[in-house]
Amino acid sequence: MGDIYVYLVTDAKNFEVETRTGQSVGFDFGLKKFLTASDGKDITSPLFFSNSSKLIAKASRELSRKCKGSNNRRRARLNLARVYKKTTNRRHDFHFKLARRLCLEYDTICIENLNVKGMQRLWGRKILDLGFSDFVKILRYEASKFGTVVIEVERYFASSQICHYCGEKNPQVKDLRIRKWKCPKCGVEHDRDRNAAINILQEGLGQRPLQEIP
Ligand SMILES: [Zn+2]
Repeated sequence: MGDIYVYLVTDAKNFEVETRTGQSVGFDFGLKKFLTASDGKDITSPLFFSNSSKLIAKASRELSRKCKGSNNRRRARLNLARVYKKTTNRRHDFHFKLARRLCLEYDTICIENLNVKGMQRLWGRKILDLGFSDFVKILRYEASKFGTVVIEVERYFASSQICHYCGEKNPQVKDLRIRKWKCPKCGVEHDRDRNAAINILQEGLGQRPLQEIP
């Protein structure tokens, strides 16, 4: 498709551990917010994530309209491949820059162990567009360069349903439409995703629950 690849070779040392920050964070993956952070420094999905699926759909539609064997069809096929490629490249670039930034900012990053199939069932094909599992691979790679520790918390741990303050489990929160809730035991009010992110951090660091209410 006329792509040009440039490879650079240097003798600079790659795997240097930077000065550490003493900061830890927990992240919850989501659709609208790419990452909800336990410390409130959330990462929004870039606009092109949602735009790109529209562009791909449009290019596929155009391809299906062209007559088989025609020059127009060949051009439409090439165009679709270009749109795919561009989307992948931009996502890759976003993932790398974000991973690097997070590794510079945090010593320890706790995330949920992703069960992509389960998430797909829950959220549909959008999950593929966001490329969470690609991001985790890139995050691990960057972390190994900076000396950041990435801790994956097991998926069966019900991060959304547990009150991070008192440890009470509230199964009503299973309903994905509930974005905010009040703990029936301690009365603390929660934002669904923030509470999940804090739980992921506490679980990852082995500190959960932080406070037990009598
Ligand atoms: Zn509570």
